[in-house]
Amino acid sequence: MAPKTPRATLKPDDFTTLYEGFDAPVSRYDCGRKCAPLNKGSALCCSSQHAVVVVHKVEFELLKGRTDIWSKFKPYDRSTKQIVEELTHDCMALECKGTAFCERHNRTIACRGFPFYPYLTRQKEFVGVGTYWVFEDRCWMMSNLEIVEPTFVEQFIATYEKIFEKDPTEFQTYVEFSASARRVFSRWKREIPLLSREGKLMIVEPSTGAIRPGKPKDFPKVTPFNSERAYKAACKEAGGEMPKEGLRVE
Ligand code: SF4
Ligand code: SF4
Repeated sequence: MAPKTPRATLKPDDFTTLYEGFDAPVSRYDCGRKCAPLNKGSALCCSSQHAVVVVHKVEFELLKGRTDIWSKFKPYDRSTKQIVEELTHDCMALECKGTAFCERHNRTIACRGFPFYPYLTRQKEFVGVGTYWVFEDRCWMMSNLEIVEPTFVEQFIATYEKIFEKDPTEFQTYVEFSASARRVFSRWKREIPLLSREGKLMIVEPSTGAIRPGKPKDFPKVTPFNSERAYKAACKEAGGEMPKEGLRVE
């Protein structure tokens, strides 16, 4: 019989401490301005039509007592039903009232960490942060990793280390998620972009899992973030207004 995974010992109050230690913005730029025109005017990661926020049930326990911006997410199609069905027993999906009601101090760990996940090697070493590649054509930040603040990465790593200490299932989830990243990128014949624990650009060779330092040219920007023309066309197609500064980082 396979050994049982020990149960999580996370308590609602643990998230108070985790929130205090994880408040750094991803970068100095308001990246929502770059993705909102492609997404009916809202940041992609703040719209339950695009990205479902998954939390620990005990995290919701804490949030319920602090704010009324969060409620249980109601799946609205096959794919969102599947996301909810596949959640582990101690997790749940939430939705917030939207960006106009955002309370910075009551953002979930998932809000604070987007678009990154903890990347673990085949040897289960937590070496850095990878990106949720499924959003790469709609999340501008993922095509601009060189501007991610090292403080954000440090806080992200420290937060997940504390979560993993108290929740072995969460650790295992990311061991498996990182393995699936290696499989997907291997199939695509692409390298995996990563930020090291110190916030440095790194590249994972997916078939071997080998990691080396990366250069900006190793991180090609994804369509429509690879040219002003493609971006303008995508904004137009989505009915959004291109920001004045275009794709540039001001
Ligand atoms: S992290 Fe990505 S999806 Fe979220 S606001 Fe920034 S560019 Fe948009
Ligand atoms: S709480 Fe704020 S950051 Fe989180 S999904 Fe809602 S609007 Fe976005």
